[in-house]
Amino acid sequence: MEKDEIRARIEFLRSEIERHDRLYYVEARPVIGDRDYDLLYDELLRLERENPEFRSSASPTQRVSGEPVAGFAQVRHDPPMQSLDKTHSRGELADFDAMVRKEAQGFTYSVEPKVDGVSMSLRYENRQLVRAATRGNGLVGDDVTLNVKTIRSVPLRLPEDAPDELEVRGEVYMTRDGFVKLNAREEEAGREPFANPRNAAAGSLKQLNPKETATRPLDIVIYNAGGVGCDGFATHTEMIEAFRRWGFPVTPWSKVCETIEGVFAAIDELETLRHTFRFEIDGAVVKLNERRLYPALGATAHGPRWARAYKYAPERAETVVEGITVQVGRTGILTPVAELRPVELAGSTIARATLHNADQVARQDIRIGDHVWLVKAGDVIPAIESSITEKRTGGEKVFEMPTACPVCGGAVARLEGEVAQRCMNPACPAQLLRRVEHFASRNALDIRALGETAINALVEQKWISDPLDLFTIPLERLASLRIAGRLFGKNAESVVNALKDARSLPLSRWLFATGIPGIGATVAADIAAEHGRLADLVDSPVLENVIANDALKGKARKILAIKVEAAKAVLGFFASDYGRRYLARLAELGIDPKSEPKKAVATEGPLVGAGCVLTGALSRPRDEYAELIRMAGGVVQSSVSSKTRYLIAGANTGAAKTSRARELGTEVIDEARLLELLGGPAATGPAGEPAVRAAPDAPPGGQGGLEQGMLF
Ligand code: AMP
Ligand code: ZN
Repeated sequence: MEKDEIRARIEFLRSEIERHDRLYYVEARPVIGDRDYDLLYDELLRLERENPEFRSSASPTQRVSGEPVAGFAQVRHDPPMQSLDKTHSRGELADFDAMVRKEAQGFTYSVEPKVDGVSMSLRYENRQLVRAATRGNGLVGDDVTLNVKTIRSVPLRLPEDAPDELEVRGEVYMTRDGFVKLNAREEEAGREPFANPRNAAAGSLKQLNPKETATRPLDIVIYNAGGVGCDGFATHTEMIEAFRRWGFPVTPWSKVCETIEGVFAAIDELETLRHTFRFEIDGAVVKLNERRLYPALGATAHGPRWARAYKYAPERAETVVEGITVQVGRTGILTPVAELRPVELAGSTIARATLHNADQVARQDIRIGDHVWLVKAGDVIPAIESSITEKRTGGEKVFEMPTACPVCGGAVARLEGEVAQRCMNPACPAQLLRRVEHFASRNALDIRALGETAINALVEQKWISDPLDLFTIPLERLASLRIAGRLFGKNAESVVNALKDARSLPLSRWLFATGIPGIGATVAADIAAEHGRLADLVDSPVLENVIANDALKGKARKILAIKVEAAKAVLGFFASDYGRRYLARLAELGIDPKSEPKKAVATEGPLVGAGCVLTGALSRPRDEYAELIRMAGGVVQSSVSSKTRYLIAGANTGAAKTSRARELGTEVIDEARLLELLGGPAATGPAGEPAVRAAPDAPPGGQGGLEQGMLF
């Protein structure tokens, strides 16, 4: 292709992808499938890589880019980003109406939802997004451009009929179901959950690493003019309509009203729809529709005089905490739960509410017997807002967290950096499901044929009471397992084969699979590197030294990657009854995990320094490819991280996986392309072509990312 053909093709691909992003993320009516989308995306990525002169920060491939920032630059707002004056009653709204009528005649109002999120300014120059900034103190906010670019519904470029320079303002929010999922993730990882979607959105925008923000389910609604490019609209509604045409997400609901009675009716209607939006709303915003009247009305220090917020009464209910019980979650986390006198709230009867953790109970001073105000965080999760202390009789009891697990009686401890308390007994029945899932997961023993539902069935039907029991279920029996009425059947064979392969997996994988709290994949690899066999971990002098030398406070400390907490956790595990039984059981099964001999990393070759991840069905065994990649100087990684250069996607690789990889800047290639890169049989070009050598961003040995999201 000639250069201008390439340029045209790149332009075509970008507009196509933008169009499909908009259909998918803004209008929720996609017209192509994931695979076709991926083809467009892959081609664009390749053309941009091969033709760096055509790269652009506004390309859809650049939504997640750049490295973590050290802090946020300051942005001055002109005009200032104001708040809104609030009203809580019809009377106050009628006063507002009277005030406006004194100044003007022949106007209408626009009523729209008051989105509960974080206000945001988006600035475009030459119709490209150049800056996104938070409100801050109204005059000066934070530049959060890199984070906001990860929000897929934010247009990076505007169509031709949009002004060259434009600033619009709106609200970034976290979707309600996204909030529920994020909080579940936070709690499973032992972290403090977010109180509501607004806090979660604010926290997500404050991430210094845009890649983390990219994992958060954020979206935006644009509802106001900014400082430039918004003149020339007669009414607010016309302006919003133009925003919509230019590709911005705007409110899905609004009403134009001629009278204040009409406004009241609209506000009532909106309140009935309150829980139907993807975002939380805490009220309605009433805006004068005719923009020509704005200058005459002006603004107070707080907000424009042509608009008012109307706050809905918070939905809360009073009830009594009849008891506080403690639940043990699948990761062993102990969660105090308030058992409530059943009460009706926002459409459902509520009898329980999570209290999250002991700190939270103490901070809120919630006592057994207390009268409390109950709310719904994110409109869905029942939460105690506060105790009603005036109603205390003195008979209330202060809650104390148990020191032993209520399920198994095991010891309870708090891991470093966590707010949660966990049951430390690896044999705790409450944790079995999660342990088996972990045991079978990819970075552990990689028993992929054993899916979540199968594990569920095995645990529920009590076929196993320990992960190692998997090794003793005969094939025929496994094939007869029923999952939701269906026979496991042929899958059993794949499971048994995978288990057979698992027997010879190296020590690092087995140690990780064991699921000792705090021992993630990287830590397991570091520990495995210092030991020959799993049995060597019992009373390991190396680990004991790590602990002893720590006491010397660095003086004679041997520099090992192993941390004291990790050493203690491993020694503690193998000293425990369960740990000893686990080892004995392995010996019985004839499984003796050994450390991998250290492989020399090739310093030359077509893949030098390139992190590679293999996934999906490939035509040759994965080990074979791994060996070839290593021989070519590449680094085989088990999961995609920012340090991964290539994701080698075999057949049936999911689109989610490939798009996630791309967001991290990883190139997705197929098997044929890999062989080409290796200079192998399918090679169409010379080995070591420029595309391969140009991998400065992939440092050798990169293995990051494994720990993330791992709960053990
Ligand atoms: P508050 O944060 O309670 O002081 O309310 C004022 C804020 O509401 C504004 O600064 C905006 O960030 C936000 N807001 C949410 N929805 C709208 C809307 N539809 N129009 C104007 N402001 C809105
Ligand atoms: Zn337990």
